[in-house]
Parts: sequence; C-alpha cells; structure tokens
Amino acid sequence: MPPELQCAACGTRYADRWRCACGQPLDFVDRPLPEGSPPIPTTLDTREGLWTFDEFLPIERRVTLGAGWTPLVDSEGLSPSKSRTESGDAPDWNCAFKLESVSPTGSFKDRGAALTVSRALACGAERLVEDSSGNAGTAIATYAARAGLESEIYVPADATAAKLHAIERTGADVVRVQGSREDVTEAAIDAVETGADWYASHAWRPSFDAGTSTIAFEIAAQRDWHAPEAVVCPLGHGTLFLGLYRGFRALADAGWIDDPPQLLAAQAAGYAPFVEGSDDENDRADGIHIREPVRADEVQKAIAETDGDAIAIDATATDREHERLHEAGFPVEPTSAVAPAALREYRERGVLADDVDVVVPLTGRAKN
Ligand SMILES: [Zn+2]
Repeated sequence: MPPELQCAACGTRYADRWRCACGQPLDFVDRPLPEGSPPIPTTLDTREGLWTFDEFLPIERRVTLGAGWTPLVDSEGLSPSKSRTESGDAPDWNCAFKLESVSPTGSFKDRGAALTVSRALACGAERLVEDSSGNAGTAIATYAARAGLESEIYVPADATAAKLHAIERTGADVVRVQGSREDVTEAAIDAVETGADWYASHAWRPSFDAGTSTIAFEIAAQRDWHAPEAVVCPLGHGTLFLGLYRGFRALADAGWIDDPPQLLAAQAAGYAPFVEGSDDENDRADGIHIREPVRADEVQKAIAETDGDAIAIDATATDREHERLHEAGFPVEPTSAVAPAALREYRERGVLADDVDVVVPLTGRAKN
C-alpha cells in the first residue's frame, strides 16, 4: 500500500498504522475534494448510503449496512400551541434534529464503523480489536460480522449485560477488564501491540471521523446546500464533533457551502476536559465518559475556528431532557439528551440567540 497516513506532529508517513511511532494520532495524507458546483440535492443517488459523497471520502466502500441518510426533522412536530409534554411545558427546542438513532446499529457510530471496517478490509485485516462498552463496540463488532471478520471487544468489567448483549450476539470475543475506562483502552493496546490483530479504535483511526464527516454532507444536502448557523452535539473523544468539523470544512473548501457552522459541544459534567471547573459527575451520559480524548488538539482547533464552545451538562438536566425527548416522540439513549439540554443552556447564557438556525444530532437510540 502507498503511504496514505501521516502524523501531523512529526510528519512521518505510513502505509498503515493505528498511531505514529511518536505516539500521536495519524491522519490521511489526502482527503479528496470534488471539483465544480454541488449537485442538485434531489438528483443525488442515495442508494449508496454514506458513499453518496464518495468524492469526499478517502476510503472505498467494501462493507455496508446501508447506513446514512438519517432523517432531518423539525424538533416540534405540531404547532407550538399543541406541542406539549405531559408536564405541560412545550419542549421548545426550536431546532432540527438529525436522527442518528435510526442507524442500523442504533447510533452515528455506524458511519465511522462502515469506513473503518472498509479500511481494515483494504489493509488485509482478519481480526479487529476495539475498546468500548457501548455504541462503538456494537458498531465495530456488527460491521466486522457483516464483513466476515473476527472481532475482539474490550469492555469495562462492570458493563451491564444489557449493554454487552448486542456485541456478544455478533460472535465477537468480549474481554472484560477491571479498572477505569483508560485501563480498558490500555488492555486493548497491549493486545494489538503484542499480536497481529488490527486496532479498529474509534478514537485513533482517522477512517472513523472520515465516516462521521458524512453527517455534515447530508445535513447540508437536506437543506439545499445551506449549512445551519450552529450545530450542538455531545462530545467525548470527539468522533462526531470532528466529523462535523471536517465535513463542513470540506464543503466550504469545495465551494458547496459558504461557511462551516458554529460548533457547540455538550460534555458530561465531571468528564469535561474542554470545560473549566466541571465537578459533579454526570453518570447518566455514559457514552461520553472520556477524560483523555485522543484528538484533543484537533477538537480545540475546531472549537476555535468555528467560534464554538463547550459546556458541561449535569445528570439532572440530562434526565429532564431525556424524558422530554421520549415524550415528544424521540426514543433516544440518555447520552443523546445532553445536546438538546446544552442547546437550552446556550440560549439561556446568550451564546445563541433564539432565532439562530440550529441542528442537533440525536446520536443514539434507547436500549432495552
Ligand atoms: Zn509522529
């Protein structure tokens, strides 16, 4: 294979590795951009799912479950006077929701997994390793099964049986690790460093956010190539946040939109490295319990370049918003609720005016 990956820190190039010898994450040397004007949205051939936008993607399609083209819907389904929750309050989000919760494996992680497992196949991988107890583990294990590859998923020892069910049912080997979330990652890294397995890490592989960047292409196309003024999304490692940034940046570079939207992050309180002074732990938003994001520098850059921000959401606000979402017809998991809760908070703080045009991805569906 040609040297397709490069380290931003030291410049070393590789055919394939999961991180640089210097310890930093890698990126693709080339991220392609189309030439010419954007296609008329209604003429796009959506049968290829995520690869509708293959002119922007550095990876060929080798495995698919048809992911992509999730609905973009108004947050209020009825006129404001009729849109009421049981408590009598209008939810009053005044935004559009991108329903990633209807993806084949139940979250936006489908996007990253489809491209990462396609990349693994291109590299000749036979057995994939990932560390996650949640949506990323489910997505990698499911796409590996779809591609006829084996997988080994490292999970925290205290992960509930319900969370692991979807992973185990794919035939993946599940390895339980005692200790913190960081200990689980270390165990997975030990395994790939001493063996021949391919590390399909959603945090480290640049293929993952190449995949999540497709959400930006879809949002723009679904709005006739008008980017929203702001996007509010959950932030853990930043796989979705960076996908949004890269996708909208590429659209602007290609001349298909004017400017990327302001990117506003919602972190879980107590797990919020991009927010100063966040203490009490939000144990409800367990999908973003990340204290050491791999691509922290890139996330900071995306926040700075888009005049963005990050705030921490506590468990009470998460629960309240989660309930409102279910009552309004959006059966999502608790982690998804931090973004609409943050939207409310950004408006209260005056970061967002009431009439700013906002899109909020609802990232994952409710688990049984
Ligand atoms: Zn390096």
